[in-house]
Formats: sequence, C-alpha cells, structure tokens
Amino acid sequence: MKLLEHTIPIVEISIGASVQLFIKREDLTHPEISGNKYWKMFFNMKKYLEKEVSERKIITFGGAFSNHIAAAAALGNEFGIQTLGIIRGNELEDSWQENPTLFLAHQNGMTFRFVSREVYRDKEKMMKELQEEFPESLVVPEGGTNENAVEGIQYMLSDETKGFDYLCCAVGTGGTVSGLVKFAEPHQQVIGFKAVKDDSLEKRIKKLSQKDHFTLIDASDGGFGKIIDENVRFINEFYQYFGIVLEPVYTGKMLRKIFEMIADGYFPENSKILAFHTGGVQGIAGANEMLKKKNKELINICRT
Ligand SMILES: *Cc1c(COP(=O)(O)O)cnc(C)c1O
Repeated sequence: MKLLEHTIPIVEISIGASVQLFIKREDLTHPEISGNKYWKMFFNMKKYLEKEVSERKIITFGGAFSNHIAAAAALGNEFGIQTLGIIRGNELEDSWQENPTLFLAHQNGMTFRFVSREVYRDKEKMMKELQEEFPESLVVPEGGTNENAVEGIQYMLSDETKGFDYLCCAVGTGGTVSGLVKFAEPHQQVIGFKAVKDDSLEKRIKKLSQKDHFTLIDASDGGFGKIIDENVRFINEFYQYFGIVLEPVYTGKMLRKIFEMIADGYFPENSKILAFHTGGVQGIAGANEMLKKKNKELINICRT
C-alpha cells in the first residue's frame, strides 16, 4: 500500500459571507476508493500485506449502499485479493443485482453473505466467527473503523490544512472524525456532522482519538440514509453553483448544515473553515433509484 502521489486540492467555495469556506477534495483520492475510506484502509492493508499468508481475503460489513463495501471491493480488485462482504438484510439475497453498489462491488470480485438485521446487529460475534472460519483473512469492521483506520486519517491533514480554524467532516461510525481530532493542531476546532442518530458516538470518538476536544452536530435529517427534499435541492444547487458533486447520505447533509451555521453566525468573523469532501458519490445511483420509486426529485448530476 502506497501513499498517494498526487496531492488533494483544497478549493474555496465563494459564499460572500464574513467567513471563508474551503473544501478538501478527498473525493478525488482514488477513482473507486474515495475519500476517507482509502485512508481508513491504509494501515489495515499495509499491515496485512506485510504478513505472510497463503491465501489472502478481505472480509468486511455494510448495508446495501455502503461506500465502505464499494471501497473494500475495489481495493481487493486492485491488489488481486478476494473479498467477502457481509451485507445487512437477507431480503437482498435475490435482488442484489439491482442494487448499484452491490452490483459494482460484485464486478470488482466481491462475493456476499446476506444476513438478517438481527444477526447483523451482533457484529463482534460475527467478526470472531469469521476470523475463525478464515484464519488468514483480514476482517475489517463495519465502515472500516478501528484503531488502524484512525491512524490513516492523519494523511487527510497536511501543512496546508494547518491554517484553518475549523475542520469539518461527516460522521458515520466515527473513525474519520476521531482521526481528525487526534491529529489536528491544538488551535483547530473539529466539528463532526452526524449522519446517523447514535448516542454512543461521543464516547467512541473519545476512546479512538484519546482526546475530548471536539463538537458533534446532528445533521442526520432524522436518521441515517433519510433523504429529505431539501437535501436533494441543496445538492443540485450546490452542483450548479460550485460544480462539485455531493452525495445525500453524508457530504450533502454536512454542507447544508455548514451553510445554515454560517447564516446563523455560528462561526466568528474571518474564520477559516475547511470541510472534507469524504467522497461516496457512488451512492447517488442507489439513492436516485429510491427517490424515483417515491416519485421525488432526483439528484441531477450529469458527470462528464
Ligand atoms: C463512511 C463515510 C463517512 C463517515 O466516516 P466514518 O469514519 O464512518 O465516520 C463520511 N463521508 C462519507 C462519504 C463516507 O463514505
């Protein structure tokens, strides 16, 4: 596993306010392993590749639209390693071909096991059992979050990011924000925008980052993966104005909230705010299928 050779651009979003907003385009990290998922897998993979084993296999977990599943499959494909995805929801057993995320993961060589929501809930147990069943495999938790993942997030920070007063990222399992909290400069405030309603996040982030100086803000719109009309409208307008594609589960919700907070005067005048675009645009296709079924406005992004 190599560090990237290209640098990730930081672009200003001109909003005509008394603060400055920038976006770090981690969505451009890798064509298929976008954003934070690349860095979260970095040390996990590096350590695994250093181990002598006779047959490598990456096993991990996720829901039907999981960016982490997509990333793990692409990573396996790139290294010629088999991947096994444990997918939440056994109803998908017969219909996964219609799910764009799973279809693409399969194209990248991933095989699946579909488990009921009940079984899925006890991931600790599943992880242990899978490690016993495949002793030579790398078993990565849901969302890729573990201690190695937190270490990898240091590469999202650089000399260039040191001048910012606020570092913002969307929060799912909390690994990414933990890394930012752990490796930020002492003068920087880290704000995590929760895409999921999960009261255990604060405790988990404290444990993973070994620090307690951060702010969590609910940006979930009522729950993980909930896509309200305003979210779609914001993403479409954001693309029209700034030419940057956001997705509806994490980054669209985070930026909409940041815009609201700027309008509400949350950030002191002249603050320099850096929001991390953590990628995940692969999820748009699946989101649009859901929106279409509900006769809702679609995320209208013509990528060229
Ligand atoms: C997974 C993901 C996150 C959340 O990262 P965690 O480390 O799980 O908190 C944020 N944004 C995008 C686009 C993601 O795919």
